[in-house]
Amino acid sequence: MTTVTFDSLNPATGEIVGSHPKHGPDAVRQAVGRAEEAAGWWAALGAGERRRRLLDYKAVITQHLRELAELVHEENGKPVGDATLEIVLAITHLDWAARNAQKVLGRRRVNPGMIGLNLAATLEYLPLGVVGVIGPWNYPVFTPMGSIAYALAAGNAVVFKPSELTPGIGVRLAELFAEAVPEQPVLQTVTGLGETGAALAADPRVRKVAFTGSTATAKRVMAACAENLTPIVAECGGKDAFIVDADADIGKAADACLWGAMSNAGQTCVGVERVYVVDAVYEPFMRELSDRVAKVKAGEDYGPITMPGQLDIIKRHIDDAAKAGKVVAGGTGSVRAPYVEPVIVEDVPEESPAVREETFGPTITVRRTRDAQEALELANASVYGLGGTVFSRNTRRAMELARMMRSGMTAINSVISFAGVPALPFGGMGDSGFGRIHGADGLREFARPKAISRQRFAMPGMNLTSFTRGPAELERLIRLVTFLHGRRKR
Ligand code: NDP
Repeated sequence: MTTVTFDSLNPATGEIVGSHPKHGPDAVRQAVGRAEEAAGWWAALGAGERRRRLLDYKAVITQHLRELAELVHEENGKPVGDATLEIVLAITHLDWAARNAQKVLGRRRVNPGMIGLNLAATLEYLPLGVVGVIGPWNYPVFTPMGSIAYALAAGNAVVFKPSELTPGIGVRLAELFAEAVPEQPVLQTVTGLGETGAALAADPRVRKVAFTGSTATAKRVMAACAENLTPIVAECGGKDAFIVDADADIGKAADACLWGAMSNAGQTCVGVERVYVVDAVYEPFMRELSDRVAKVKAGEDYGPITMPGQLDIIKRHIDDAAKAGKVVAGGTGSVRAPYVEPVIVEDVPEESPAVREETFGPTITVRRTRDAQEALELANASVYGLGGTVFSRNTRRAMELARMMRSGMTAINSVISFAGVPALPFGGMGDSGFGRIHGADGLREFARPKAISRQRFAMPGMNLTSFTRGPAELERLIRLVTFLHGRRKR
Protein backbone atom coordinates (compact mmCIF):
# COMPACT_ATOMS: atom_id res chain seq x y z
CA MET A 1 0.00 0.00 0.00
CA THR A 2 1.38 3.43 -0.89
CA THR A 3 1.54 6.01 1.87
CA VAL A 4 -0.17 9.31 1.13
CA THR A 5 2.15 12.15 2.00
CA PHE A 6 2.11 15.92 2.25
CA ASP A 7 4.93 18.43 1.98
CA SER A 8 6.11 21.01 4.46
CA LEU A 9 7.27 24.16 2.73
CA ASN A 10 9.75 26.87 3.55
CA PRO A 11 7.44 29.88 3.97
CA ALA A 12 10.15 32.29 2.75
CA THR A 13 11.02 30.46 -0.48
CA GLY A 14 8.19 28.00 -1.09
CA GLU A 15 10.77 25.19 -1.36
CA ILE A 16 9.90 21.75 -0.05
CA VAL A 17 11.56 21.12 3.33
CA GLY A 18 10.25 17.61 3.82
CA SER A 19 7.58 15.10 2.96
CA HIS A 20 5.57 13.35 5.67
CA PRO A 21 2.86 10.69 5.88
CA LYS A 22 -0.76 11.75 6.23
CA HIS A 23 -1.58 9.50 9.14
CA GLY A 24 -5.24 8.49 8.94
CA PRO A 25 -7.50 7.19 11.72
CA ASP A 26 -5.98 3.65 11.53
CA ALA A 27 -2.42 4.89 11.92
CA VAL A 28 -3.47 7.16 14.78
CA ARG A 29 -5.29 4.24 16.48
CA GLN A 30 -2.16 2.12 16.19
CA ALA A 31 0.01 4.89 17.62
CA VAL A 32 -2.36 5.30 20.58
CA GLY A 33 -2.31 1.51 21.10
CA ARG A 34 1.50 1.52 21.23
CA ALA A 35 1.37 4.55 23.52
CA GLU A 36 -0.95 2.74 25.95
CA GLU A 37 1.57 -0.04 26.35
CA ALA A 38 4.44 2.42 26.62
CA ALA A 39 2.49 4.41 29.23
CA GLY A 40 2.28 1.35 31.48
CA TRP A 41 6.03 0.78 31.20
CA TRP A 42 6.86 4.46 31.74
CA ALA A 43 4.59 4.74 34.80
CA ALA A 44 6.08 1.57 36.32
CA LEU A 45 9.63 2.94 35.93
CA GLY A 46 9.03 5.27 38.84
CA ALA A 47 9.74 8.96 39.23
CA GLY A 48 13.52 8.62 39.72
CA GLU A 49 14.09 6.65 36.51
CA ARG A 50 11.80 8.95 34.52
CA ARG A 51 13.70 11.95 35.78
CA ARG A 52 17.03 10.43 34.70
CA ARG A 53 15.73 9.61 31.22
CA LEU A 54 14.08 12.98 30.71
CA LEU A 55 17.31 14.71 31.68
CA ASP A 56 19.00 12.50 29.06
CA TYR A 57 16.39 13.61 26.52
CA LYS A 58 17.18 17.19 27.45
CA ALA A 59 20.89 16.54 26.85
CA VAL A 60 20.17 14.97 23.43
CA ILE A 61 18.04 17.96 22.39
CA THR A 62 20.76 20.32 23.59
CA GLN A 63 23.37 18.42 21.56
CA HIS A 64 21.14 18.86 18.48
CA LEU A 65 20.34 22.51 19.22
CA ARG A 66 21.93 23.93 16.07
CA GLU A 67 20.37 21.34 13.78
CA LEU A 68 16.92 21.84 15.32
CA ALA A 69 17.22 25.64 15.09
CA GLU A 70 18.04 25.32 11.40
CA LEU A 71 14.98 23.11 10.86
CA VAL A 72 12.72 25.55 12.75
CA HIS A 73 14.14 28.33 10.56
CA GLU A 74 13.33 26.35 7.42
CA GLU A 75 9.83 25.19 8.35
CA ASN A 76 8.56 28.20 10.30
CA GLY A 77 10.67 30.94 8.68
CA LYS A 78 11.93 32.68 11.83
CA PRO A 79 15.61 33.71 12.02
CA VAL A 80 17.98 31.04 13.35
CA GLY A 81 18.73 33.20 16.42
CA ASP A 82 15.06 33.34 17.40
CA ALA A 83 14.73 29.61 16.76
CA THR A 84 17.72 29.00 19.05
CA LEU A 85 16.14 31.12 21.80
CA GLU A 86 12.90 29.18 21.47
CA ILE A 87 14.67 25.83 21.80
CA VAL A 88 16.72 27.02 24.78
CA LEU A 89 13.48 27.96 26.54
CA ALA A 90 12.03 24.53 25.76
CA ILE A 91 15.17 22.93 27.23
CA THR A 92 14.78 24.87 30.50
CA HIS A 93 11.17 23.72 30.76
CA LEU A 94 12.10 20.09 30.14
CA ASP A 95 14.76 20.40 32.83
CA TRP A 96 12.34 21.94 35.35
CA ALA A 97 9.58 19.40 34.68
CA ALA A 98 12.01 16.48 35.05
CA ARG A 99 13.52 17.83 38.27
CA ASN A 100 10.28 18.88 39.98
CA ALA A 101 7.80 16.14 39.08
CA GLN A 102 8.47 13.99 42.14
CA LYS A 103 8.29 16.94 44.55
CA VAL A 104 5.02 18.24 43.09
CA LEU A 105 3.26 14.96 42.37
CA GLY A 106 4.74 12.49 44.84
CA ARG A 107 2.85 11.00 47.75
CA ARG A 108 2.48 13.17 50.82
CA ARG A 109 0.50 13.19 54.04
CA VAL A 110 -2.11 15.85 54.51
CA ASN A 111 -3.70 16.99 57.77
CA PRO A 112 -6.87 14.90 58.33
CA GLY A 113 -8.51 17.58 60.50
CA MET A 114 -10.03 17.23 63.99
CA ILE A 115 -12.97 15.04 62.98
CA GLY A 116 -10.62 12.77 61.06
CA LEU A 117 -8.14 12.58 63.93
CA ASN A 118 -8.03 8.77 63.73
CA LEU A 119 -7.11 8.80 60.02
CA ALA A 120 -3.89 9.01 58.04
CA ALA A 121 -4.59 10.98 54.86
CA THR A 122 -2.32 10.78 51.83
CA LEU A 123 -2.43 12.53 48.49
CA GLU A 124 -0.52 11.77 45.33
CA TYR A 125 -0.89 12.58 41.64
CA LEU A 126 -0.92 9.56 39.33
CA PRO A 127 -0.38 9.50 35.54
CA LEU A 128 -3.41 9.65 33.25
CA GLY A 129 -2.06 7.21 30.64
CA VAL A 130 -1.92 8.51 27.06
CA VAL A 131 -1.91 12.27 26.47
CA GLY A 132 -2.60 13.69 23.00
CA VAL A 133 -0.75 16.91 22.20
CA ILE A 134 -1.95 18.99 19.24
CA GLY A 135 0.60 21.67 18.51
CA PRO A 136 0.89 24.91 16.58
CA TRP A 137 3.44 26.16 14.05
CA ASN A 138 4.40 29.54 15.57
CA TYR A 139 6.68 28.12 18.29
CA PRO A 140 6.92 24.54 17.02
CA VAL A 141 9.37 23.41 19.75
CA PHE A 142 8.64 25.63 22.75
CA THR A 143 4.84 25.46 22.70
CA PRO A 144 4.29 21.71 22.35
CA MET A 145 7.18 21.05 24.75
CA GLY A 146 5.20 23.02 27.35
CA SER A 147 2.74 20.13 27.28
CA ILE A 148 5.00 17.22 26.24
CA ALA A 149 7.68 17.74 28.93
CA TYR A 150 5.15 18.14 31.73
CA ALA A 151 2.97 15.23 30.55
CA LEU A 152 6.01 12.92 30.29
CA ALA A 153 7.38 14.03 33.66
CA ALA A 154 3.97 13.29 35.22
CA GLY A 155 4.37 9.69 33.99
CA ASN A 156 2.27 9.70 30.81
CA ALA A 157 3.01 8.59 27.27
CA VAL A 158 2.44 11.24 24.58
CA VAL A 159 1.18 11.09 21.02
CA PHE A 160 2.07 14.40 19.41
CA LYS A 161 0.37 15.83 16.31
CA PRO A 162 2.39 18.84 15.11
CA SER A 163 0.88 21.47 12.83
CA GLU A 164 0.89 20.51 9.15
CA LEU A 165 3.15 23.54 8.63
CA THR A 166 5.89 22.25 10.93
CA PRO A 167 5.72 18.45 10.89
CA GLY A 168 9.47 17.85 10.44
CA ILE A 169 10.23 19.41 13.82
CA GLY A 170 7.60 17.24 15.48
CA VAL A 171 9.09 14.11 13.89
CA ARG A 172 12.59 15.11 15.03
CA LEU A 173 11.45 15.69 18.63
CA ALA A 174 10.18 12.10 18.81
CA GLU A 175 13.29 10.69 17.08
CA LEU A 176 15.53 12.44 19.60
CA PHE A 177 13.41 11.08 22.43
CA ALA A 178 13.97 7.56 21.12
CA GLU A 179 17.74 8.18 21.34
CA ALA A 180 17.39 8.88 25.05
CA VAL A 181 14.68 6.30 25.75
CA PRO A 182 15.00 3.50 23.17
CA GLU A 183 12.97 0.85 25.03
CA GLN A 184 9.41 2.04 24.42
CA PRO A 185 7.71 4.66 22.20
CA VAL A 186 6.79 6.89 25.13
CA LEU A 187 6.76 9.92 22.83
CA GLN A 188 5.44 9.39 19.30
CA THR A 189 4.63 11.87 16.56
CA VAL A 190 1.81 11.40 14.07
CA THR A 191 1.75 13.72 11.06
CA GLY A 192 -1.00 14.94 8.81
CA LEU A 193 -3.62 17.65 8.43
CA GLY A 194 -6.52 18.58 10.69
CA GLU A 195 -8.10 15.11 10.32
CA THR A 196 -5.08 13.51 11.99
CA GLY A 197 -5.55 15.74 15.05
CA ALA A 198 -9.28 15.04 14.97
CA ALA A 199 -8.64 11.26 15.02
CA LEU A 200 -6.31 11.70 17.99
CA ALA A 201 -8.85 13.78 19.94
CA ALA A 202 -11.62 11.25 19.19
CA ASP A 203 -9.73 8.19 20.45
CA PRO A 204 -11.24 7.14 23.79
CA ARG A 205 -7.89 5.77 24.99
CA VAL A 206 -6.45 9.29 24.97
CA ARG A 207 -6.99 10.46 28.56
CA LYS A 208 -6.31 14.14 28.01
CA VAL A 209 -5.80 16.43 25.03
CA ALA A 210 -3.46 19.43 25.19
CA PHE A 211 -4.39 21.77 22.37
CA THR A 212 -2.72 24.98 21.17
CA GLY A 213 -4.19 26.92 18.27
CA SER A 214 -7.23 28.98 17.41
CA THR A 215 -10.34 29.34 19.58
CA ALA A 216 -12.50 28.03 16.72
CA THR A 217 -10.49 24.81 16.38
CA ALA A 218 -10.34 24.43 20.19
CA LYS A 219 -14.15 24.32 20.19
CA ARG A 220 -14.12 21.59 17.54
CA VAL A 221 -11.52 19.58 19.46
CA MET A 222 -13.52 20.01 22.67
CA ALA A 223 -16.68 18.78 20.92
CA ALA A 224 -14.83 15.67 19.73
CA CYS A 225 -13.47 15.12 23.24
CA ALA A 226 -16.95 15.51 24.75
CA GLU A 227 -17.97 12.19 23.15
CA ASN A 228 -15.64 10.35 25.53
CA LEU A 229 -15.61 12.92 28.34
CA THR A 230 -11.91 13.44 27.57
CA PRO A 231 -10.68 16.54 29.39
CA ILE A 232 -8.69 19.12 27.48
CA VAL A 233 -6.30 21.96 28.19
CA ALA A 234 -6.75 24.70 25.60
CA GLU A 235 -4.31 27.49 24.78
CA CYS A 236 -5.96 29.61 22.13
CA GLY A 237 -4.10 32.84 21.65
CA GLY A 238 -5.05 36.35 22.67
CA LYS A 239 -5.11 40.07 22.09
CA ASP A 240 -2.60 41.09 24.71
CA ALA A 241 -2.45 44.64 26.00
CA PHE A 242 0.65 46.66 26.88
CA ILE A 243 0.12 49.46 29.41
CA VAL A 244 2.58 52.34 29.76
CA ASP A 245 2.06 54.30 33.00
CA ALA A 246 3.17 57.89 33.60
CA ASP A 247 6.34 56.94 35.50
CA ALA A 248 7.52 54.25 33.06
CA ASP A 249 11.04 54.19 31.61
CA ILE A 250 9.94 55.29 28.15
CA GLY A 251 12.98 54.05 26.23
CA LYS A 252 12.78 50.57 27.76
CA ALA A 253 9.01 50.46 27.32
CA ALA A 254 9.20 51.36 23.61
CA ASP A 255 11.97 48.81 23.04
CA ALA A 256 10.04 46.02 24.80
CA CYS A 257 6.77 46.97 23.12
CA LEU A 258 8.30 46.75 19.68
CA TRP A 259 9.96 43.41 20.27
CA GLY A 260 6.84 41.99 21.94
CA ALA A 261 4.76 43.04 18.94
CA MET A 262 7.02 42.41 15.96
CA SER A 263 9.33 39.53 16.86
CA ASN A 264 8.35 36.24 15.21
CA ALA A 265 6.42 38.47 12.77
CA GLY A 266 3.85 39.00 15.52
CA GLN A 267 2.89 35.32 15.39
CA THR A 268 3.00 34.93 19.15
CA CYS A 269 0.00 33.98 21.26
CA VAL A 270 1.28 36.33 24.00
CA GLY A 271 2.49 38.94 21.52
CA VAL A 272 1.69 42.63 22.07
CA GLU A 273 -1.32 43.64 19.94
CA ARG A 274 -2.88 46.60 21.80
CA VAL A 275 -0.92 49.42 23.44
CA TYR A 276 -2.43 51.84 25.98
CA VAL A 277 -0.27 54.81 26.97
CA VAL A 278 -1.23 57.35 29.62
CA ASP A 279 -1.56 60.91 28.41
CA ALA A 280 1.38 62.28 30.43
CA VAL A 281 3.95 60.21 28.47
CA TYR A 282 2.10 59.65 25.22
CA GLU A 283 4.14 62.01 23.03
CA PRO A 284 7.62 60.93 24.21
CA PHE A 285 6.60 57.26 24.02
CA MET A 286 5.35 57.64 20.44
CA ARG A 287 8.56 59.46 19.47
CA GLU A 288 10.65 56.59 20.87
CA LEU A 289 8.46 54.00 19.19
CA SER A 290 8.61 55.76 15.79
CA ASP A 291 12.40 56.15 15.96
CA ARG A 292 12.90 52.53 16.85
CA VAL A 293 10.42 50.98 14.42
CA ALA A 294 12.15 52.67 11.51
CA LYS A 295 15.10 50.33 12.10
CA VAL A 296 13.08 47.09 12.26
CA LYS A 297 12.85 45.23 8.95
CA ALA A 298 10.81 42.22 7.89
CA GLY A 299 13.09 39.56 6.43
CA GLU A 300 16.00 40.72 8.63
CA ASP A 301 14.74 41.16 12.18
CA TYR A 302 11.94 38.67 11.77
CA GLY A 303 10.80 36.18 9.18
CA PRO A 304 7.86 35.72 6.86
CA ILE A 305 4.26 34.97 7.80
CA THR A 306 4.33 31.22 8.24
CA MET A 307 0.72 30.46 7.32
CA PRO A 308 -0.14 32.02 3.93
CA GLY A 309 -3.86 32.31 4.80
CA GLN A 310 -3.02 34.61 7.70
CA LEU A 311 -1.90 37.35 5.30
CA ASP A 312 -5.54 38.11 4.41
CA ILE A 313 -6.48 38.60 8.07
CA ILE A 314 -3.46 40.82 8.71
CA LYS A 315 -4.22 42.88 5.60
CA ARG A 316 -7.89 43.26 6.57
CA HIS A 317 -6.92 44.49 10.05
CA ILE A 318 -4.33 46.93 8.68
CA ASP A 319 -6.74 48.32 6.08
CA ASP A 320 -9.45 48.70 8.66
CA ALA A 321 -7.15 50.35 11.22
CA ALA A 322 -5.62 52.69 8.64
CA LYS A 323 -9.06 53.84 7.53
CA ALA A 324 -10.33 54.54 11.04
CA GLY A 325 -7.11 55.71 12.72
CA LYS A 326 -3.82 57.48 12.07
CA VAL A 327 -0.91 55.51 10.63
CA VAL A 328 2.38 55.98 12.50
CA ALA A 329 4.45 53.33 10.69
CA GLY A 330 3.80 51.11 7.67
CA GLY A 331 0.27 50.95 6.35
CA THR A 332 -1.82 49.29 3.72
CA GLY A 333 1.23 48.63 1.53
CA SER A 334 3.11 46.83 4.29
CA VAL A 335 1.86 43.38 3.30
CA ARG A 336 4.30 42.05 0.70
CA ALA A 337 3.80 38.30 0.78
CA PRO A 338 5.22 36.41 2.48
CA TYR A 339 6.54 39.35 4.52
CA VAL A 340 4.74 42.07 6.46
CA GLU A 341 6.64 45.21 7.47
CA PRO A 342 5.92 46.61 10.95
CA VAL A 343 2.67 48.54 11.24
CA ILE A 344 1.69 50.98 13.99
CA VAL A 345 -1.66 52.76 13.94
CA GLU A 346 -3.01 55.12 16.62
CA ASP A 347 -6.53 56.24 17.50
CA VAL A 348 -8.22 53.12 16.15
CA PRO A 349 -11.75 52.75 17.59
CA GLU A 350 -11.94 50.06 20.25
CA GLU A 351 -14.77 48.25 18.48
CA SER A 352 -12.83 47.75 15.21
CA PRO A 353 -11.55 44.26 14.26
CA ALA A 354 -7.92 45.43 14.52
CA VAL A 355 -8.49 46.04 18.24
CA ARG A 356 -10.90 43.20 19.00
CA GLU A 357 -9.72 40.22 16.94
CA GLU A 358 -6.40 38.40 17.09
CA THR A 359 -4.24 39.71 14.23
CA PHE A 360 -1.22 37.40 14.64
CA GLY A 361 0.96 39.76 12.61
CA PRO A 362 3.59 42.49 13.16
CA THR A 363 1.03 45.19 13.88
CA ILE A 364 -0.12 47.22 16.89
CA THR A 365 -2.78 49.75 17.67
CA VAL A 366 -1.86 52.49 20.16
CA ARG A 367 -4.29 54.55 22.19
CA ARG A 368 -3.88 57.48 24.56
CA THR A 369 -5.61 57.06 27.93
CA ARG A 370 -6.38 59.49 30.74
CA ASP A 371 -4.58 57.35 33.31
CA ALA A 372 -3.53 53.77 34.06
CA GLN A 373 -7.00 52.92 35.37
CA GLU A 374 -8.58 53.73 32.02
CA ALA A 375 -5.81 51.77 30.28
CA LEU A 376 -6.59 48.80 32.48
CA GLU A 377 -10.33 49.01 31.79
CA LEU A 378 -9.72 49.05 28.04
CA ALA A 379 -7.16 46.25 28.32
CA ASN A 380 -9.71 44.14 30.19
CA ALA A 381 -12.55 44.77 27.72
CA SER A 382 -11.57 41.82 25.53
CA VAL A 383 -13.01 38.36 25.04
CA TYR A 384 -9.44 37.09 25.30
CA GLY A 385 -7.37 36.98 28.48
CA LEU A 386 -3.98 35.39 27.93
CA GLY A 387 -1.02 37.64 28.83
CA GLY A 388 -0.21 41.32 29.10
CA THR A 389 2.39 43.87 30.12
CA VAL A 390 2.66 46.81 32.52
CA PHE A 391 5.48 49.35 32.42
CA SER A 392 5.85 51.48 35.57
CA ARG A 393 8.68 52.38 37.94
CA ASN A 394 6.30 52.17 40.92
CA THR A 395 6.46 48.50 41.88
CA ARG A 396 3.38 48.65 44.12
CA ARG A 397 1.23 50.28 41.46
CA ALA A 398 2.57 47.97 38.74
CA MET A 399 1.78 44.92 40.87
CA GLU A 400 -1.73 46.28 41.50
CA LEU A 401 -2.34 46.80 37.79
CA ALA A 402 -0.91 43.37 36.95
CA ARG A 403 -3.16 41.67 39.50
CA MET A 404 -6.23 43.49 38.17
CA MET A 405 -5.42 42.64 34.55
CA ARG A 406 -7.91 40.06 33.30
CA SER A 407 -5.34 37.57 32.03
CA GLY A 408 -3.47 34.43 33.01
CA MET A 409 -0.02 36.09 33.00
CA THR A 410 1.32 39.65 33.21
CA ALA A 411 4.91 40.84 32.75
CA ILE A 412 6.12 44.01 34.50
CA ASN A 413 8.86 46.13 32.91
CA SER A 414 9.64 43.33 30.42
CA VAL A 415 7.66 41.44 27.79
CA ILE A 416 6.68 37.77 27.82
CA SER A 417 9.16 37.16 30.65
CA PHE A 418 6.69 34.84 32.43
CA ALA A 419 7.07 32.28 29.61
CA GLY A 420 10.73 31.83 30.48
CA VAL A 421 10.08 31.04 34.15
CA PRO A 422 9.34 27.31 34.25
CA ALA A 423 7.82 27.54 37.73
CA LEU A 424 5.09 29.91 36.50
CA PRO A 425 1.90 28.41 35.06
CA PHE A 426 1.00 29.45 31.51
CA GLY A 427 -2.55 29.71 30.20
CA GLY A 428 -5.51 32.01 29.82
CA MET A 429 -9.15 32.71 30.45
CA GLY A 430 -12.17 33.48 28.27
CA ASP A 431 -11.52 32.89 24.56
CA SER A 432 -7.84 32.35 25.36
CA GLY A 433 -8.75 28.95 26.77
CA PHE A 434 -8.34 27.20 30.09
CA GLY A 435 -6.07 24.90 32.01
CA ARG A 436 -2.36 25.45 32.54
CA ILE A 437 0.92 24.21 31.14
CA HIS A 438 4.29 24.90 32.87
CA GLY A 439 5.04 24.92 36.58
CA ALA A 440 3.48 22.79 39.30
CA ASP A 441 0.00 23.48 37.86
CA GLY A 442 1.27 22.24 34.49
CA LEU A 443 2.45 18.98 36.04
CA ARG A 444 -0.85 18.50 37.89
CA GLU A 445 -2.74 19.23 34.65
CA PHE A 446 -1.44 15.90 33.34
CA ALA A 447 -2.12 13.84 36.46
CA ARG A 448 -5.06 12.72 38.53
CA PRO A 449 -5.17 13.34 42.24
CA LYS A 450 -5.43 10.14 44.23
CA ALA A 451 -6.74 10.58 47.75
CA ILE A 452 -6.42 7.84 50.37
CA SER A 453 -7.71 7.91 53.94
CA ARG A 454 -6.51 5.12 56.23
CA GLN A 455 -8.10 4.53 59.61
CA ARG A 456 -5.36 4.15 62.18
CA PHE A 457 -7.63 3.36 65.16
CA ALA A 458 -11.32 3.39 65.92
CA MET A 459 -12.45 6.61 67.60
CA PRO A 460 -13.90 5.50 70.96
CA GLY A 461 -17.60 6.28 71.19
CA MET A 462 -17.62 8.02 67.82
CA ASN A 463 -18.38 5.36 65.21
CA LEU A 464 -20.30 7.72 62.96
CA THR A 465 -20.38 5.73 59.72
CA SER A 466 -22.19 2.72 61.10
CA PHE A 467 -25.80 1.66 61.57
CA THR A 468 -24.83 1.00 65.21
CA ARG A 469 -24.46 4.74 65.77
CA GLY A 470 -26.67 5.90 68.66
CA PRO A 471 -28.01 9.26 69.94
CA ALA A 472 -25.11 9.63 72.43
CA GLU A 473 -22.54 9.59 69.61
CA LEU A 474 -24.54 12.16 67.66
CA GLU A 475 -24.69 14.33 70.79
CA ARG A 476 -20.90 14.11 71.24
CA LEU A 477 -20.48 15.08 67.58
CA ILE A 478 -22.73 18.13 67.98
CA ARG A 479 -20.77 19.21 71.09
CA LEU A 480 -17.45 18.77 69.29
CA VAL A 481 -18.55 20.66 66.18
CA THR A 482 -20.05 23.45 68.32
CA PHE A 483 -16.73 23.73 70.18
CA LEU A 484 -14.73 23.76 66.92
CA HIS A 485 -16.97 25.85 64.68
CA GLY A 486 -19.76 27.42 66.74
CA ARG A 487 -18.13 30.67 67.87
CA ARG A 488 -18.44 33.86 65.88
CA LYS A 489 -15.32 35.94 65.57
CA ARG A 490 -17.14 39.27 66.10
P1 NDP B 1 -5.64 25.80 14.14
O1 NDP B 1 -6.27 26.05 15.45
O2 NDP B 1 -6.52 25.43 13.00
O3 NDP B 1 -4.55 24.61 14.29
C1 NDP B 1 -3.87 24.29 15.47
C2 NDP B 1 -3.59 22.78 15.49
O4 NDP B 1 -4.81 22.05 15.49
C3 NDP B 1 -2.81 22.28 14.27
O5 NDP B 1 -1.95 21.24 14.66
C4 NDP B 1 -3.92 21.77 13.39
O6 NDP B 1 -3.47 20.85 12.44
C5 NDP B 1 -4.83 21.13 14.40
N1 NDP B 1 -6.20 20.92 13.93
C6 NDP B 1 -6.88 21.60 12.95
N2 NDP B 1 -8.15 21.14 12.86
C7 NDP B 1 -8.28 20.19 13.80
C8 NDP B 1 -9.37 19.36 14.22
N3 NDP B 1 -10.57 19.43 13.67
N4 NDP B 1 -9.16 18.49 15.22
C9 NDP B 1 -7.95 18.42 15.82
N5 NDP B 1 -6.89 19.16 15.46
C10 NDP B 1 -7.05 20.05 14.47
O7 NDP B 1 -4.75 27.04 13.83
P2 NDP B 1 -4.09 27.53 12.48
O8 NDP B 1 -2.73 26.95 12.44
O9 NDP B 1 -4.99 27.31 11.30
O10 NDP B 1 -4.04 29.09 12.78
C11 NDP B 1 -5.25 29.85 12.79
C12 NDP B 1 -5.21 30.93 13.84
O11 NDP B 1 -5.06 30.37 15.13
C13 NDP B 1 -4.03 31.87 13.71
O12 NDP B 1 -4.35 32.85 12.82
C14 NDP B 1 -3.87 32.39 15.10
O13 NDP B 1 -4.74 33.47 15.29
C15 NDP B 1 -4.30 31.23 15.96
N6 NDP B 1 -3.15 30.47 16.48
C16 NDP B 1 -2.83 30.60 17.78
C17 NDP B 1 -1.74 29.95 18.28
C18 NDP B 1 -1.35 30.08 19.71
O14 NDP B 1 -0.17 30.09 20.01
N7 NDP B 1 -2.29 30.11 20.62
C19 NDP B 1 -0.88 29.11 17.46
C20 NDP B 1 -1.34 28.98 16.10
C21 NDP B 1 -2.44 29.65 15.66
P3 NDP B 1 -3.09 21.33 10.97
O15 NDP B 1 -2.05 22.42 11.14
O16 NDP B 1 -2.55 20.12 10.39
O17 NDP B 1 -4.37 21.85 10.36
